Amino acid sequence: MFEEVWRAYEENELSHSAAHHLLSIHELRSQSGYARVSDIAKHLSITKGSVSTAMKLLKERGYVQEDHNKFLELTEKGLKVVQETEATRLVVQRFLCNALGMDEDDAMIDACKVEHLISSEARARLVCFLQILFSDKPQAREFMSMFNDNVFSCQDGNVETCQLCDDVCYGDPSQMVLGEN
Ligand SMILES: [Zn+2]
Ligand SMILES: [Zn+2]
Repeated sequence: MFEEVWRAYEENELSHSAAHHLLSIHELRSQSGYARVSDIAKHLSITKGSVSTAMKLLKERGYVQEDHNKFLELTEKGLKVVQETEATRLVVQRFLCNALGMDEDDAMIDACKVEHLISSEARARLVCFLQILFSDKPQAREFMSMFNDNVFSCQDGNVETCQLCDDVCYGDPSQMVLGEN
């Protein structure tokens, strides 16, 4: 099953780079009202040539078009990708940082890596989870404090009888000391 999944994502219609091109157009247009190939190149610190190549593909696939001034703009489809990508990044970032206690910058980097890959169902479920977790409910606070005090160890140090792990131990013990946040 995983073989099919990774292959599908290798051939993902929208690469991470393409997603950032779309984000860039959106940001530039909201800041200055227009986005040209040269603006995107500057914004992403890449060459105009590679932006042009990316734009050709994004136009063919219906994510980008030109406005009446021949400036680049997102289509409805492109805008949807941008909104979903930004929402996913923010939710994952909050989860990694505020729930799991990762360093803010590290959380931002990991969130950026997966922002265009996670399904909207996964994001929706994560949002519901965070809503409860970050609520003022005493059970949520109690859970968070239990979590913060917890240091993972495979039960009895035996992966075979451990209630959590399967064939492989889920935790590399050397990585399992959670830092203060
Ligand atoms: Zn990213
Ligand atoms: Zn275990």
